[in-house]
Amino acid sequence: SSLICFTDFVKEYESNGQKIRALDGINLEIETGDIYGIIGYSGAGKSTLIRGINGIEKPTEGTITVGEQKVNELSTKSLREFRKKTGMIFQHFNLMPSRTVFENVALPLKKSDLSSGEKKRRVDELLDYVGLLDKSNVYPAQLSGGQKQRVSIARALAHNPEILLCDEATSALDPQTTLSILSLLKRLNQTLGITIVLITHEMSVIKEICNKVAIIDAGKILEQGDVFDVFTKP
Ligand code: ADP
Ligand code: ADP
Repeated sequence: SSLICFTDFVKEYESNGQKIRALDGINLEIETGDIYGIIGYSGAGKSTLIRGINGIEKPTEGTITVGEQKVNELSTKSLREFRKKTGMIFQHFNLMPSRTVFENVALPLKKSDLSSGEKKRRVDELLDYVGLLDKSNVYPAQLSGGQKQRVSIARALAHNPEILLCDEATSALDPQTTLSILSLLKRLNQTLGITIVLITHEMSVIKEICNKVAIIDAGKILEQGDVFDVFTKP
């Protein structure tokens, strides 16, 4: 059933008195369990779209719902709680360089009610899941790109999110490392039931793991549907 739903979603930015229509009437449904790819050129509106899901960007017009919640109507306080349902990973990992791997993964748990023993167990469990338990005490600079992305995935999973948002998560990685990260994402989807929304400019990423795809250009969706159908159309 539908988990994420954009309805007539418009986003305008204003810069130097000029209005930029980044998203121009988006209608999109993402179902529980999907690995949904959003593909398009730079400037197409992909980041704005994915940031609409966790409420970082609010629509100028239209609505975005996740489960039962109208994200665009949430108060700042409810939005903070709601965001725990979503994890996010980025092209450049966004790890804190002065913190160890363990501390980076523990950051989202800072304000939780867990005891320090429970936090330690949770972080260890997450690091074990991504295959980096042995790197707990090193700093990000000592890791390869693929390992850094694994740490950021572990951090994104700290609150057991229903949804993982991936913003060009493999664009800074070589092809082999890309495949290993995509296979980790697939494992999250299959074993933890996490719905994944990823944005990319690379067709190979879509073909490797997505079941659904939307092609976006100049703020509009050109095509959407099953990956197979969208890319085998004459
Ligand atoms: P993509 O992720 O596909 O590269 P974006 O969503 O980042 O696209 O950007 C879509 C359009 O909105 C672009 O024209 C971009 O310059 C513009 N844009 C994005 N963020 C802002 C902002 N904060 N202020 C003004 N314009 C923005
Ligand atoms: P690199 O960037 O060095 O290629 P990878 O992202 O491929 O790193 O892997 C990072 C670490 O995770 C490595 O130590 C690797 O042995 C381990 N690893 C890779 N795949 C898995 C997996 N499916 N389960 C557990 N650990 C894995």
